[in-house]
Amino acid sequence: MREYRIAAIPGDGIGSEVIDAGIRVLDSLVKHIGGFNLSITHFPWGTDFYLEHGKMMPDDGLEQLKKFDAIYFGSAGDPRVPDHISLWGLRLAICQSFDQYANVRPSILLPGVQSPLRDGAADSIDWVIIRENTEGEYAGAGGRVHSGHASEVGLDVSVFTRSGVERIQRFALDLARSRPQKKLTFVTKSNAQRHGMVMWDDIFDQLCSKYSDLTIDKMLVDAMTTRMVLDPKSIDVVVATNLHADILSDLAAALSGSMGIAPTANLNPEGEFPSMFEPIHGSAFDIMGKDIANPIGAFWSAVMMLNHLGEASAAQILMNAIEKCTLDGTCLPQDLGGAATTEQVTDFILDMIRGSNDRV
Ligand code: ATP
Repeated sequence: MREYRIAAIPGDGIGSEVIDAGIRVLDSLVKHIGGFNLSITHFPWGTDFYLEHGKMMPDDGLEQLKKFDAIYFGSAGDPRVPDHISLWGLRLAICQSFDQYANVRPSILLPGVQSPLRDGAADSIDWVIIRENTEGEYAGAGGRVHSGHASEVGLDVSVFTRSGVERIQRFALDLARSRPQKKLTFVTKSNAQRHGMVMWDDIFDQLCSKYSDLTIDKMLVDAMTTRMVLDPKSIDVVVATNLHADILSDLAAALSGSMGIAPTANLNPEGEFPSMFEPIHGSAFDIMGKDIANPIGAFWSAVMMLNHLGEASAAQILMNAIEKCTLDGTCLPQDLGGAATTEQVTDFILDMIRGSNDRV
């Protein structure tokens, strides 16, 4: 029996609602398919923990997580604590400490889902945005001087290292090579940011010579937003910095139906540390506790986690169940135009898994 240890960190807001739903689905896959087991440990870290202990996770939190095969994460953020404290105290601490430098963000217009784009323009949205995940604009370098005085200064310094840039660009180029379209769009802002971004461009130009089999183009990040709206079919794999890809992938989620469906994987590709899987949405406090959060982003993140663990059959069964749910249309959550609760969507997916004939 193949055994995997999963650390579940539901976090704040709707995080616990969608991660609970995701764990019900994962448990059902284990029972239905057989051959593997998931040993899931829950960590109640997040804002409640912070309000009690003054930190988002215990001092040895990272040490505890190290022994797991993967982390299944909900969200971090709560109006009772400033966002930069909750984000840095948990999610970014994990991404940076575990060198999860490749943030993989697929966007697909699922069958039956309506895009806000007109006339079927989005029908062929099948993108993967690769976000650098450990440095750049979110490196954490900076500070404040003369606090509270009229002369106060606040600095956030983007940090780009040659090794950090090279590895994420190579990861994106290799991914593009593995896909049928073999296309990569390189996103930059080197017209205005003339140091780190120009190095980002130089390194890409050097790497490109080894990928002559790919169709490669270069876009400024502002122009990329308009291309995503006006010419979505022309895009395949996109690589961008930490901040740029963060923004582009929220737009990608909205264009492919809703923030509630988009998944992400924070990968440490070398496997030295556990990788982390989470829906891209945040805590969404406006809908917390109402049982209306769309759990599909958490389910799709579980698909990515299962693929990462090597359980491709289970991943495929879950992805098929998600697509049946969106295509069928009778049990859609509110953000996709339906009236189903989180629990009803989860029950629908569970039925699809139980009815599936695919067994390994
Ligand atoms: P963050 O600042 O971490 O991005 P946030 O709460 O400000 O978090 P999001 O959670 O990313 O923002 O989402 C913005 C809005 O989209 C939410 O307020 C909510 O209305 C909607 N939304 C997000 N996720 C879901 C979901 N899973 N189901 C339904 N609606 C969602």
